[in-house]
Amino acid sequence: MSKQITGATSIFGVLGYPIQHSLSPLIHNQLASELNHDLVYVPFPVSPETLEKAIEGAWALEIQGLNVTIPHKESVIPYLVHVDSFAMKMGAVNTLKRTAQGYEGYNTDGMGLLQSLTKHRITLKGKTMMILGSGGAARAAAIMGASQGVRQIWIVNRTIEHAEKLLKDVKQFYSIEVEVCSWDQLKNIENMPSIDLCIQTTPIGMYPYAQMTPIDDPNFFSHIQTAVDLIYNPLETQFLSLAKQAGCNIINGLEMLVFQGIKAYELWKECTISLDLQEKVLKNMEQYFISKDEMPR
Ligand code: NAP
Repeated sequence: MSKQITGATSIFGVLGYPIQHSLSPLIHNQLASELNHDLVYVPFPVSPETLEKAIEGAWALEIQGLNVTIPHKESVIPYLVHVDSFAMKMGAVNTLKRTAQGYEGYNTDGMGLLQSLTKHRITLKGKTMMILGSGGAARAAAIMGASQGVRQIWIVNRTIEHAEKLLKDVKQFYSIEVEVCSWDQLKNIENMPSIDLCIQTTPIGMYPYAQMTPIDDPNFFSHIQTAVDLIYNPLETQFLSLAKQAGCNIINGLEMLVFQGIKAYELWKECTISLDLQEKVLKNMEQYFISKDEMPR
């Protein structure tokens, strides 16, 4: 049965461009329904040129909370009244919470990833982490990992300057060992280190290019203990499939997606969502993927 909207219903949403394939409305509207909260969560297509007006308008319309996705996670920062310290370190915001003065910014991507790892009983203190890619998701993974006490981070990226920028930003806040290398250098490393956790953050292998993988060398996977791919469409990418064949533990990006959404909901509603409900939402999302033969990007 669809929700009855009244004059008292609060509005939440997600800003992005494009936004029509966002899965966030499914997550948040299920949470609201299960928790009996009188709110609706809707997608808002907002182009980069209209972002400032969209934020002002959302506040004027008393929209209580917003998620922000590609391409606005960094460019939204100047329009916020406050940004929390973790989001500041990442240089990106994915959650806005309304206050009387304007919106405050948070970033729940790193927390979502951390919760996914915790669910698989993976701890980070003293571990060696490799991050494939240097974009927004890689930044969230690196800052989260550093904050949890990883011993060493390797950053592998196509554009070495982007990897070096991330290295500099991580080292500005955390005194840990960070190494950068290109994909070619990675292939030629004679003594590849043993990596506890390798996080694939590039879009390579995402629908409709599901046959692609950033790396297919079995020697690479033999040095990895756990492989995470932040892609969730398909649920098992070629990268994860090769990692599994090599005996690695594998984790896809759906849990991070669901858990970052749940963290945002908890921030907005100042509540704690039970682990049972979190698992229910995750199962619902898995079913959603399994029931579709082909998913759009
Ligand atoms: P982004 O900021 O655009 O960064 C993309 C990264 O991938 C960059 O480092 C880029 O390298 C690299 N890359 C892109 N195309 C490449 C190619 N053809 N060959 C080699 N490297 C390539 O994107 P993002 O926001 O980090 O998102 C990246 C992925 O993570 C997407 O698939 C997204 O769906 C996923 N993600 C998932 C979640 C989740 O909750 N599961 C959350 C956030 C993101 P250069 O620096 O050389 O350009």
